[in-house]
Amino acid sequence: MSISRSGKVKFFDASRGFGFVHDGDDRLDRHFHVTQVVGADLPGVGDVVTFLPATGPRGPKAEHVRIVERATSLQGSLRADDRDICGSCGKRMVPRVWMVNGTPHESFCPFCGKQHKSFVVVDSRIGRLIYGIITFMMFSFFILMLFN
Ligand SMILES: [Zn+2]
Repeated sequence: MSISRSGKVKFFDASRGFGFVHDGDDRLDRHFHVTQVVGADLPGVGDVVTFLPATGPRGPKAEHVRIVERATSLQGSLRADDRDICGSCGKRMVPRVWMVNGTPHESFCPFCGKQHKSFVVVDSRIGRLIYGIITFMMFSFFILMLFN
């Protein structure tokens, strides 16, 4: 069992769902995944967080990342725009994005765990639309060739 440490967030990409926190004890940056962030808010650059040091396949990582101090009030107000009302529990929250093979799969509520948005459904709808257009164009081309 690791002992909790604190450090500053060096980088965080909410859309890609990961970031890096600087570990002053080991003097290195630790990778962390959005699913390891505890609480309603997502961290921003410069935020002070506590975490548990661990080692993953990609090297040093941080688990159970918890925000203890916000970097600036300006960043805090900008991030407040990311908040959304959960359709299941009604709480204001920043949806967590679940990544599958590097692409967003779905987002879910950090409080009740219910699905917020599914990116896969949207993607497959667009995919089916493009497939439909291509099929229609090929069919039209075939008909034109046939009657020329
Ligand atoms: Zn909820």
